[in-house]
Amino acid sequence: MATQYKNLINGKMVDNGKWLDVINPANEQIIGQVPDCGQAELDAAVAAARAAFPKWRATPIDERRAAILKISAAIKENHDELFRLLTSEQGKPHAQAAGEISGAAAIAAAQSTLSLDDEINEDSDKRLSRTRRVPVGVVGGIVPWNFPVMMALQKIVPAMLSGCTIVLKPSPYTPLATLRIMELIADIVPAGVVNVITGGDDLGPMITAHPDIDKITFTGSTATGKRIMETASKDLKRITLELGGNDASIVLPDADVKSVAEKLFWASFTNAGQICVAAKRIYIHEDIYDELSAAIAEFAKSVKVGDGAEQGTAVGPIQNKAQYDRVIELVQDAKDNGYKFLVGGDHDPNIPGYFMPITILDNPPEDARIVAEEQFGPVMPLMKFSTTQEAISRANNSIYGLAGSVWTSDAEQGVAVAEQLETGTVWVNEFLHLSPFAPFGGHKQSGFGVEYGKEGLSEFTYPQVITVAK
Ligand code: NAD
Repeated sequence: MATQYKNLINGKMVDNGKWLDVINPANEQIIGQVPDCGQAELDAAVAAARAAFPKWRATPIDERRAAILKISAAIKENHDELFRLLTSEQGKPHAQAAGEISGAAAIAAAQSTLSLDDEINEDSDKRLSRTRRVPVGVVGGIVPWNFPVMMALQKIVPAMLSGCTIVLKPSPYTPLATLRIMELIADIVPAGVVNVITGGDDLGPMITAHPDIDKITFTGSTATGKRIMETASKDLKRITLELGGNDASIVLPDADVKSVAEKLFWASFTNAGQICVAAKRIYIHEDIYDELSAAIAEFAKSVKVGDGAEQGTAVGPIQNKAQYDRVIELVQDAKDNGYKFLVGGDHDPNIPGYFMPITILDNPPEDARIVAEEQFGPVMPLMKFSTTQEAISRANNSIYGLAGSVWTSDAEQGVAVAEQLETGTVWVNEFLHLSPFAPFGGHKQSGFGVEYGKEGLSEFTYPQVITVAK
């Protein structure tokens, strides 16, 4: 029988006797089961979080920090077990899974150093006016399947630090490593402060609609984000939405082809392209297009796609069947329209697992679905441009505004282009780096609010102004 992973509710690991299967996307075998929860379990988790809130809010911040550091240490101590479990449920290669586990522990520790100090608005003969940040209460956290551990911690840590309590729901595709971490920390965190429950498609909407949850922090698709915003409007819940992206990379004519080729490849294909901030449209200046596209294609041929648990694998499977089918559909659309493939395009439907070969398209038109839509898979279109302004306007011609990158030998010129991109994050000559101290969030339909940094932390609070007459 597959290992059963329980939920954390009110400090105890529990189940309700109903189970959901979790499969390994590399071979479609069942690797674990998690509780299939509904309204009753959600009510219990929210009640526990509500009951724990007054005491946790009143706990000195240094004690809250210490609890976060203990969580970080527990993750570090169990690093090897956790990254293997993460690969088996998510599909990413061992090295990338290890990076997610150690990254989550490190970011939790770093974030725990943040604080929101009181601000003095007026200190005059007449009055003292001060703004303090007050925790909002019970937070509902909803997490996707591409970075399940990182995203869970990204929500749990600021909630705890700010003095909130949380009920978190992992994706039903990738709940195992998160629940294993909950088992490790169940005795470290006071009962009710952190609760994690699992369930099927109905559970997310129940969280969003729950009358005793004060704020939703969500990472996932733009379509789901819109549904959450709609439901949250019923009782004006606070919301933070980290949504989809269709990030553009702009390669200027002075970029060094050799060094950029490999970096652009990984900007696009890390985690099999399933990263919100992956490079999803690459615009290359016409002077270097042929040379750079050939170099990227050549490098792609050296990269092994396979089971993330096998040595040498650098790109794993797509995480789930629905996403696999969607990527196949986009590739088929490119074939039907006669677009040219530099590499890949043909998956083998007869092997187990959701494997798509590395696929690179040669200058498809701007309105091709593979360009206009977020692929979220190991598929990348390369496009040619003539002038920098043209590249900027094509990059900005998107409903999304999450991130982007600029590649050049002249950093100053890179910054000048970066400042014209309509996105929350822009990298010049690097990619995917996020800082726990800098706000991360999307413009346009990529999001609402931010995570990380003081700004991200403050979204778990509301400002209260206290004015005392003298
Ligand atoms: P998804 O929106 O399908 O699911 C995300 C989570 O929401 C899951 O836990 C799911 O069970 C839950 N959910 C589904 N429907 C819901 C509803 N109606 N109400 C409440 N919860 C609901 O997203 P996904 O497919 O898991 O993740 C991929 C998407 O996430 C991509 O678009 C990607 O760009 C985006 N993403 C964004 C960021 C970011 O920080 N901006 C980070 C990672 C992923």
